[in-house]
Order: sequence, then C-alpha cells, then structure tokens
Amino acid sequence: MSDVLFKCWMCTKSLAISDKGSGKIVYCPDCSKQLTVPYPKIFYNCPSCDCSLSSPEEYAQTTLACPNCDTDITVPELSEETAEEHNVAPPSPQNDNNNP
Ligand SMILES: [Zn+2]
Ligand SMILES: [Zn+2]
Repeated sequence: MSDVLFKCWMCTKSLAISDKGSGKIVYCPDCSKQLTVPYPKIFYNCPSCDCSLSSPEEYAQTTLACPNCDTDITVPELSEETAEEHNVAPPSPQNDNNNP
C-alpha cells in the first residue's frame, strides 16, 4: 500500500492521497479546487525517509514533495521493467547481410 503523489493543476501543490482514494474526488487544501485522485502506475520510495509512494505515468521526471519529510523527489521513469524484457533478445541482422 502506498500514497498516490500528484499535483493540483491549479496551484501545483503536491498532494498525497492513500491509493484507496484513486478515482475519488478530493479538494485541494490550498485552492479548494476539485480534483480526481489519479491511478498510479509508477511505484517508488522516498530517498530520504523511504516511505512508499506512487504516481501516474505522466509524472515521470516531475518533482514532487514527499508528504512525510517534505523532500523534493523526482519521480522515476516507468520503463525499467518493460525495458528489461525488450532487451532479452537483441536483434542481430548480421547473418542476413552476409548472404553471398
Ligand atoms: Zn490547488
Ligand atoms: Zn520522505
């Protein structure tokens, strides 16, 4: 279980909601804007306090504030696992080019 970390699109405040709240409506504590809690795709830990966090895919490389220790965190890219799968068998077209 982890907190979903995302930003209010009105005031860009970082918000952290339990992942049970995904798809539900919350109100920004700063500007009172109505927000829908996104479904997280990227799961990571705070490098400072090691708490479990998650964010939607579009937040990769975005800087958010940790809800526990207020450290600035850059959300990692989602691609790591899928990239490994693609690298299992790299294509080697050499044989085709050596045909006489
Ligand atoms: Zn706001
Ligand atoms: Zn933290």
